[in-house]
Amino acid sequence: MAEVLVLVDHVDGDVRKSTAEALTAAARLGEPSAVFVGSGLDAARDFLARFGAAKVYHLDGADYTDHLVVPVAEALAQLVEKTGAAAVLLPASNDGKEIAGRLAIKTSSGLITDAVDVQPGDGGGVKTVQSVFAGSYTVTSTVTQGSPIVTLKPNSIEPAEAQGAAADEAVEVQLSELATSARITERKEKASSGRPQLTEAAIVVSGGRGTGGDFGPVEQFADSLGAAVGASRAAVDAGWYPHASQVGQTGVQVSPQLYVAAGISGAIQHRAGMQTSKTIVAVNKDPEAPIFELVDYGVVGDLFSVLPQATTEVQNRKG
Ligand code: FAD
Repeated sequence: MAEVLVLVDHVDGDVRKSTAEALTAAARLGEPSAVFVGSGLDAARDFLARFGAAKVYHLDGADYTDHLVVPVAEALAQLVEKTGAAAVLLPASNDGKEIAGRLAIKTSSGLITDAVDVQPGDGGGVKTVQSVFAGSYTVTSTVTQGSPIVTLKPNSIEPAEAQGAAADEAVEVQLSELATSARITERKEKASSGRPQLTEAAIVVSGGRGTGGDFGPVEQFADSLGAAVGASRAAVDAGWYPHASQVGQTGVQVSPQLYVAAGISGAIQHRAGMQTSKTIVAVNKDPEAPIFELVDYGVVGDLFSVLPQATTEVQNRKG
């Protein structure tokens, strides 16, 4: 069975759920092989085995950790050539997409970004599904050249456990001089909010201009649900919440099980980032707000009254 390479998304061996989704998708296409960059493989191995990785290629050392994404793209290109990989699946993060683009060029392969589903193609190859134009169209595509390179949108595929060996496979890579020509000179960890990562979270609670700059009720409701906090562009442009939290066309695209929009009107550019959420709930005091056109559940009311009541109710039910 042909190998399908999956670039592992992790921080020091703490593997993100998106990798379980990618390994699940890879198993539909062939034999999943994990490509693990950097340190922490011992901590990650059980996770990779539990989601079906048969092999693990470990790219370790300063060449990979002290430089930007070029060495990883070069190494993946050599792995694609060596293994004749049936496909390469990568996270749809900024780094993942940059690596995917470079890899597609290096291997003369077709590239699909932000796929929400991956299946074997009817006549072989890989069939992908993307949700485009603010979720108003679904596009099915097939790569017709090379090894399909696909970035997967998080929370799109239900991870399925499937025991694999996650056995180390030797990998020898020759990096070009150019690959290490940009070096990382400093890394600063961002202060953690203690909440899940926006793109990964199963639940996202977002606030908009309707918060008037007070994200307290949004954060408290999010915390009662173990959710991530997002924001509309109006809220981040006003300086009420960090830009990294912006959901939408020019922000982060999320696809959680539950998306709660509080004090957000539902502009097309906001929808573009959240429309593929499984269940959408809005709290808005204007019954005519466009967000109500796409919700599963809508509450017409003042968020400063609705969210605290919902928070108390969730806390009571949790006991
Ligand atoms: P508003 O549209 O002002 O809506 C506020 C809502 O809050 C209203 O519906 C109001 O009824 C309600 N409200 C007020 N007070 C309360 C209360 N107390 N309780 C309950 N409800 C209340 N926007 C994004 O979000 N993400 C993007 O990525 C993005 N990209 C863009 C890219 C381009 C090129 C352009 C032109 C625009 C982009 N925008 C984006 C901006 C977008 O068009 C909207 O302006 C923005 O989403 C509006 O944010 P909002 O819904 O918070 O504010």
